[in-house]
Amino acid sequence: MFYLGIDFGTSGARAIVIDENESIQTKINCTFETVNEDKLASNWQNILYTILGKIPLIICQEIRAIAINGTSSTVLLCNAQGMPIVTPLWYDDIRGKEYLKNIQEIAPDNHIVCSASSSLAKLFWWYNNVDCKEATFFLHQADWLGSLLHGKLGISDYHNALKLGYDVNKLNYPNWLTVLPFYTILPQILPPGTPVESVTLDIAEQFNLRKDCQVCTGTTDSIAAFLASGVKHPGEGVTSLGSTLVLKLLSQTSVNEFKSGIYSHRLGDLWLTGGASNTGGAVLRHFFTNKELEIYSNQIITDKPSNLDYYPLLKPGERFPINDPQLLPKINPKPDNKVKFLQGLLESMAKIEALGYQKLQELGATPLTQVYTAGGGAKNKTWQKIRERFIKVPVSISPQTEAAYGTALLAKRSHINLE
Ligand code: ADP
Repeated sequence: MFYLGIDFGTSGARAIVIDENESIQTKINCTFETVNEDKLASNWQNILYTILGKIPLIICQEIRAIAINGTSSTVLLCNAQGMPIVTPLWYDDIRGKEYLKNIQEIAPDNHIVCSASSSLAKLFWWYNNVDCKEATFFLHQADWLGSLLHGKLGISDYHNALKLGYDVNKLNYPNWLTVLPFYTILPQILPPGTPVESVTLDIAEQFNLRKDCQVCTGTTDSIAAFLASGVKHPGEGVTSLGSTLVLKLLSQTSVNEFKSGIYSHRLGDLWLTGGASNTGGAVLRHFFTNKELEIYSNQIITDKPSNLDYYPLLKPGERFPINDPQLLPKINPKPDNKVKFLQGLLESMAKIEALGYQKLQELGATPLTQVYTAGGGAKNKTWQKIRERFIKVPVSISPQTEAAYGTALLAKRSHINLE
């Protein structure tokens, strides 16, 4: 039995099929072409079908469940037949900023929807700027793509729906949202990875899938990447050392601090909390090539601290763990010795990472016991040692980091829960 996870990112889509032992059977990548805005949704559809068409027949015939993740807060409006009536808005689109005041008037203070790029801000923008007479369904990217496979419209999951205003504590839409004129087009919300329906007959025939292959509700890209790590126990964290430094901590409690960009996603009975700092690999890339990072890192003597105290940023401003939009980068004094300079940067970032986990715990998250690492900096063993010294818990590389793998796990769990 196989399980398929599909990750729709910003530059393309990736699919991973896993077996019952969670080993990867096949991986397929597809890059987005540059298309006119009005062809965006049909381009997603083509990519989805291209991916399905590329999975070897022998694997297709044994896929039992499929799940899709999309970029969080990438949304669209559809008519009653599921045809998009607008160009989808990407996750980072901030045209809704002019309606932030309206949202602040109705939503609780500091709610996650009070952001120019929230799904709700995008919905406000559409209702005020395009003809929405035919709008029957407001869907996230993952919901719409899922509907192409199972044929049911108006269904989403509570990861995608967080930035729409869905109450993940009470598992309903709050009263301040239900009174809005467009409430009727909001999707029904199910837990991520809930089987919705089998693939349609057309899809089963076209792609040699089993008629009983279930399509499940999806999740968002960053949660899928977290799920890929396989982390299950409260207290386990995943640090992503990519261009920025992103922390995620599995917790028994939900912690939220809007001004620091800290919020919590529901994960069954647990919560996935975290925050993102502006420090990270982008600063390293500014000073060093990847080859230099490797060579100089190997020369660092980790138990001889540099005593350099930096706050590495490329431009002023930080949100987490220090919330200060004017915070200045601190990268001085800069020693001539490049190994020492790199050591100072890596130690300072490790300090910021430790401070981040400390901040989440101060707000009430479950104490940290173990950190897994993803992203371009994960392979750096020297940094791992330095980080262990500051974070004071074991640090290791995440065995799997691809969002498509996490989404395949979601599909697998949904199928196992069914049996
Ligand atoms: P993103 O997807 O966020 O752009 P990646 O996860 O691909 O980033 O990671 C890229 C980053 O990893 C770069 O900023 C680069 O400086 C950093 N990086 C690459 N190699 C190393 C290394 N050996 N040690 C530390 N950082 C590294």
